[in-house]
Amino acid sequence: MLLSKLFIPILKNNPSEAKIKSHQLMLRAGMIKQASAGIYSWLPLGFKVMKKIEEIVRQEQNKIGAQEILMPTIQSSEIWKESGRYEDYGEEMLRIKDRQNREMLYGPTNEEQVTEIFRSSLKSYKSLPQLLYHIQWKFRDEIRPRFGIMRGREFYMKDAYSFDVSDEDAFYSYNKFFLSYLRTFKRLSLTAIPMAADTGPIGGNLSHEFIILADTGESKIFTDKRIFDLNSNDTKLEKNSLQQMRKKYEQYYSVTDEKFNKEEFEKVVSEENRLITKGIEVGHIFYFGDKYSKAMDASVDLPGGKKDFVKMGSYGIGVSRLVGAIIEAKYDDKNEIMKWPLSVAPYDIALIPMINKNDSSALDKAININKELVKNNIDSLIDDTEENFSSKIKKMNLIGAPYQIIIGKKSDGNLLEFKEIGKEIENLTLAKIIEIIKKQKNLN
Ligand code: ATP
Ligand code: MG
Repeated sequence: MLLSKLFIPILKNNPSEAKIKSHQLMLRAGMIKQASAGIYSWLPLGFKVMKKIEEIVRQEQNKIGAQEILMPTIQSSEIWKESGRYEDYGEEMLRIKDRQNREMLYGPTNEEQVTEIFRSSLKSYKSLPQLLYHIQWKFRDEIRPRFGIMRGREFYMKDAYSFDVSDEDAFYSYNKFFLSYLRTFKRLSLTAIPMAADTGPIGGNLSHEFIILADTGESKIFTDKRIFDLNSNDTKLEKNSLQQMRKKYEQYYSVTDEKFNKEEFEKVVSEENRLITKGIEVGHIFYFGDKYSKAMDASVDLPGGKKDFVKMGSYGIGVSRLVGAIIEAKYDDKNEIMKWPLSVAPYDIALIPMINKNDSSALDKAININKELVKNNIDSLIDDTEENFSSKIKKMNLIGAPYQIIIGKKSDGNLLEFKEIGKEIENLTLAKIIEIIKKQKNLN
């Protein structure tokens, strides 16, 4: 892609309405454009990043056997009246009337809708377990939409739902999602810590929030530091190993302020391991048993001829929030450098030729380099403008492609000036550069 052709309305200065880094940067790099309070259009750069995050989320859902569906954004109030949440949800729910005067709503979440699909489709325990998910826009009329897409009113969420015949099976489903969340956030190069959480308006008895550390986060967290050293690499998708994996995480105290208890914290965590800080919630999983299936009469036939309500859980990931969360985690404020993880970067590499009016040889060289990159599935952004070197570098540091090739006077012969953003320049052949990037891609 040529930078001169890219739709990227870059801003020179920080817009005054943006209070945190990710919001500033997303506006400055032309990733999003506000449409109205808490509602945004996604421009090419931002949309590309979000779609890559979405794809990783999708792959990790598929790996645990969840099946993708797509439910509508607009729902009927009827099912919400059945569950009792039409009243309970309060002002966060955007309520609409259609031309027949029917009460509709823009879905803030989909427990009711998916339960309705389930109850009218499946009747036997033999069809269980079922794990269904969709990736769809949600609307919550947040009282204080802020921080750009981090707390929007319209936002993009992956929400999954599990249906099981017993508590024991349901915990197995829960643990599959627990693992899939750890894997997903790892591929986004984030350390997200599962924290015991309150179940809030969704209700129920088992819940974890997945939180990444960030000073600008809205969740206050209290943890035993040692939880950060855990990994789940060797976990198999099998009942016992999943249970042990969750136990391994749960042995360390880690909660948000809703569940915080000072006495307990000080009793179970020795002073040197205590960490009190802030974080961003990027995912949230719940087990709530028959809360919805009972209210909405979603039951299955059991082996002995009896019936029972299905046991359900729900599992959310804030796909649009993650774009901002990754920026909060990766932005180097001191050097004003963004470095996207290669797995979600808008471009893999920036080609920066030094061009002046009567000499296009550096640009020609960049275009030739790009041909090789394309053959290797490496996506590049070529700065074909005639701006000076330092403003070119500034712009690419803002866009945040993780690698750069600088094509100037010095890059005669086979060696190219290559750098991983934020690191020193190295002189390497194109073949070597391609090897480095492909190797990194394979790690994802
Ligand atoms: P929060 O405490 O941040 O309001 P929540 O507990 O209401 O979150 P859930 O209902 O569990 O959120 O939704 C699942 C995920 O959707 C959250 O973990 C978060 O990443 C994302 N999310 C929730 N509300 C918003 C919002 N207003 N804007 C962007 N993302 C959101
Ligand atoms: Mg909320």
